[in-house]
Amino acid sequence: MKLNSELQKQFTGYMDLLKDDIILTASLDDSENSKKVKDFLDDISSISEKIVIKEASLSRTPSFRIDTKAKVGNIVFAAVPLGHEFASFVLALLQSSGVVPKISEESKKRIQEIDQAYHFETYISLSCHICPDVVQALNIMAVLNDNITHTTIDGALFKDEIDDLNIMAVPTVMLNGREFMAGRTSIEEILDKIVGEKQTTISYSKPFDVMVIGGGPAGSSSAIYAARKGLSVIMVADKVGGQVLDTLSIENLIGTVYTEGPKLAQALNTHMQEYNIEIVKNQTVSKLEKDELINATLNNGDEITAKSVIIATGARWRNANVPGEKEFKNKGVAYCPHCDGPLFENKDIAVIGGGNSGIEAAIDLSNTSSKVTVLEFMPELKADAVLQKKMEQRKNINVILNAQTTEISGDSRVSGLSYKDRETNQIHDIKLAGVFVQIGLAPNTEWLGDYLAKSPMGEIIVDQKGETSIKGIYAAGDCTNSSYKQIVIAMGSGATAALSVADYLMKNFDK
Ligand SMILES: Cc1cc2nc3c(=O)[nH]c(=O)nc-3n(C[C@H](O)[C@H](O)[C@H](O)COP(=O)(O)OP(=O)(O)OC[C@H]3O[C@@H](n4cnc5c(N)ncnc54)[C@H](O)[C@@H]3O)c2cc1C
Repeated sequence: MKLNSELQKQFTGYMDLLKDDIILTASLDDSENSKKVKDFLDDISSISEKIVIKEASLSRTPSFRIDTKAKVGNIVFAAVPLGHEFASFVLALLQSSGVVPKISEESKKRIQEIDQAYHFETYISLSCHICPDVVQALNIMAVLNDNITHTTIDGALFKDEIDDLNIMAVPTVMLNGREFMAGRTSIEEILDKIVGEKQTTISYSKPFDVMVIGGGPAGSSSAIYAARKGLSVIMVADKVGGQVLDTLSIENLIGTVYTEGPKLAQALNTHMQEYNIEIVKNQTVSKLEKDELINATLNNGDEITAKSVIIATGARWRNANVPGEKEFKNKGVAYCPHCDGPLFENKDIAVIGGGNSGIEAAIDLSNTSSKVTVLEFMPELKADAVLQKKMEQRKNINVILNAQTTEISGDSRVSGLSYKDRETNQIHDIKLAGVFVQIGLAPNTEWLGDYLAKSPMGEIIVDQKGETSIKGIYAAGDCTNSSYKQIVIAMGSGATAALSVADYLMKNFDK
């Protein structure tokens, strides 16, 4: 295997930053997979004189560990870390050589204080775009504390392990041999889980001019616009990026021909850092109260006061709400085709939902799964004609209209799905290994109860200026009753809300 010239160029540049020589200790045998790992490592070491390969027996074959002359390393890859994991591999080399990871001092201290042995193993697929966040977080922890080790395992190379452990979603993280967590996570969330939630103490003497709730495109845009107006801004965000973090390719962010979700999320973060914006991460707001000022209660009990608020809490995948969905989540019930599709290679699966996301998912999954059944509740598909045309060319996609999913069944993992034919009322059973739920989005507004006026769909009703039914409280993006839910639209409405806030503060607070 040869790295393509673009990757080689990038890699050569990064290797100039190595602070110490690296030894890649590889465990190999005569298998085809070992040959792939060896070819990759040969390629890597031929690019940089600072990297040598040694062979030894490790607990998985094929795999390799990142060592230095001074130290046997704590990071192992049981994978050929190309695709989305190439960046994880490069970072692991740099950090193992002594380059300091870019995380907050507080997280660094929390990691270094861990005094118990934690052995993490993360099962990934190379096509999973959310896996690198988890791999990189755990690698940083392994670099900063010798009590921690981390192995990244490509499920495609270790199919027997995936089957034995009943893993049907990536990333799945095992801790000391037991399932620990699945899906996207951050260093802070991992630390909260293993050492307990950190005690944040937010105490601000003065109220902020504006508090932004939510860190997606709408929240980021309103925070930047508000800061540029000279307002003091605090943002409470469980994650900076929002849904963008779950998006693979973005081709309609006007002025940017192509980008990827995690890249755009990073760009939003970097752009906000250019301004004096206080960001409270990994927290959500659970309650708002307005007197003269607005008081927000966070889920950890902290309180923040502001003169105005912009709610930009976005939306999330809608659940099918049928028996079996919750029970078999990550055991055959999935929501991210890009991430989990490869785990259903040569298996029969279903997609619930015939809108754009459902049909896009069906086309994508038909490349790897043997048969894809699309179940649409209505008498016709709602996806764009261009997608339907593309789908019709796939021989292994079958569409069932008027189908109401009634149950997802199985034992330790999904083995079937039942649906009612809404014309005949007859129940049908399908045998399958996986179900991808793709029935649109629900606004993240439940936490507000009926504090603000909402549409029957739960969306916050806003006027042209982004103002809600309560003076001084504005909303933007997918959590509102805007007609369309897109990144540019969310950013635009975030800007509108911030400019309206500036106007409101000038008139009401002499700002
Ligand atoms: C798979 C997928 C692909 C997509 N592809 C595209 C595309 O190609 N082009 C395009 O234009 N659009 C695309 N979209 C839509 C686009 O991502 C959204 O329209 C956009 O992200 C909405 O931005 P937002 O800021 O309103 O909300 P979100 O992006 O949903 O961000 C809101 C954030 O607020 C957080 N939050 C929720 N409740 C609270 C609380 N109480 N306190 C604090 N924080 C909270 C949420 O967890 C989230 O992080 C896609 C969406 C998905 C799911």
